[in-house]
Amino acid sequence: MFVWYLASETELLLDLDDAARSTKSGGPWIEVFFRRRLRDAIVDGKLDVQAVFLVRSTSKHHFQAFVRLAKALPVVERLVWQLHLGSDLYRGRADLMRAARGIKAPSLLILPKAIPGFWREPDRICSCTRKHKTEEMPDCPVWRELRGMSPWELFGKSEKKAERGVPLPLGQVPLELILKKLKH
Ligand SMILES: [Zn+2]
Repeated sequence: MFVWYLASETELLLDLDDAARSTKSGGPWIEVFFRRRLRDAIVDGKLDVQAVFLVRSTSKHHFQAFVRLAKALPVVERLVWQLHLGSDLYRGRADLMRAARGIKAPSLLILPKAIPGFWREPDRICSCTRKHKTEEMPDCPVWRELRGMSPWELFGKSEKKAERGVPLPLGQVPLELILKKLKH
């Protein structure tokens, strides 16, 4: 079983991946980009925040944060706030692109069980037993309803292998240099 939380018009949903990693200033990501930026936004009257809820997900250093707002915000503003507050960039860009394409729940969280003590119930529940994988086209009504496009569908598959850098000249850059892969 999986439960689905769809970020509402009054919620931000952040993916704080590897939240303990250091920022340039040395402070952990979750402190510098989440707590302090959120504080600045609240203190300066930019965000009217009612509550914050932190969920630990798959690993020790991976969190999701919900921020409940007093007023509804337009979807693009919410997605930009999520990025500003330190949400994972890869996820955030995919969410923005999904919103640009009119997908109704561009930011969502799928978990194996409901979040204990959270301020509301999940929006959807499905009976799948395995994690949804876009390339497998899961037979799941919720997935079919809310299926976002995966980052690789939106932006192209990314190479996992390490490769050497290709120096680019100033001025017009030949496309063959962009396409080149130099093996290690
Ligand atoms: Zn499902």
